[in-house]
Amino acid sequence: MSIRENVAAIRKRMDAAAVESGRRPEDILLVAATKMNDADRVKEAVAAGVDACGENRVQELLEKHPKGAYEGRPVHFIGHLQTNKVKQIVGLVDLIQSVDSEALLQKIDAQAEKRGIVQDILIEVNIGDEAAKSGVSPEDLPALLEKASTYSHLRVRGLMAIPPISLEPGGNNVYFCAMYKLFIDIGAKKYDNVSMDFLSMGMSDDFEDAIRCGANMVRVGSSIFGARHYA
Ligand SMILES: *Cc1c(COP(=O)(O)O)cnc(C)c1O
Repeated sequence: MSIRENVAAIRKRMDAAAVESGRRPEDILLVAATKMNDADRVKEAVAAGVDACGENRVQELLEKHPKGAYEGRPVHFIGHLQTNKVKQIVGLVDLIQSVDSEALLQKIDAQAEKRGIVQDILIEVNIGDEAAKSGVSPEDLPALLEKASTYSHLRVRGLMAIPPISLEPGGNNVYFCAMYKLFIDIGAKKYDNVSMDFLSMGMSDDFEDAIRCGANMVRVGSSIFGARHYA
């Protein structure tokens, strides 16, 4: 199957899940998780109509960007972000999906101020409370949002989550539903600089479940590009 055929097939499944949950297909965004795929393959995904591209590593982003890999679509940063790399991506990406600490907020705001822009971000939530995973715990989320609302060069546009590896179909629904509840509760609270526009969750194995639970942004890699071969 080509990248184009894969994107078309995924879009069909996304549309069906959207309709099943009473939403409009055009309201659900498909982000291509492009890690380990070169600029030409990323361009193919863009041409096939993905809504955005998501990169995991700053290095890869900086290599593919000058090659025009993402041209015509927004580019997101979706991987773990170190504070010392913030400088390199603020203003270059449209959305940083993986912000999970006060230190990152502070660095992003400072860099965005330097560039005279407002950087859109999502807050990553460690919804499965896994020790080894990034993301703020649900308990610490309100304090982080309070902090975010004090900065004027960043804007929180929603939440992102990577739930635990699921061993069975539907195994992550409990986490997806918990995320949706946070998304709605926070939206009702109306913090300054915080709007709950995007709920980013669901990957190749479970994007339909995520959509049915309320996701409006899914991040799909291997179902678009094929399996990744780690050296
Ligand atoms: C790789 C990746 C994905 C996509 O994973 P697949 O299972 O290949 O669809 C989504 N989100 C993040 C943060 C990723 O790193």
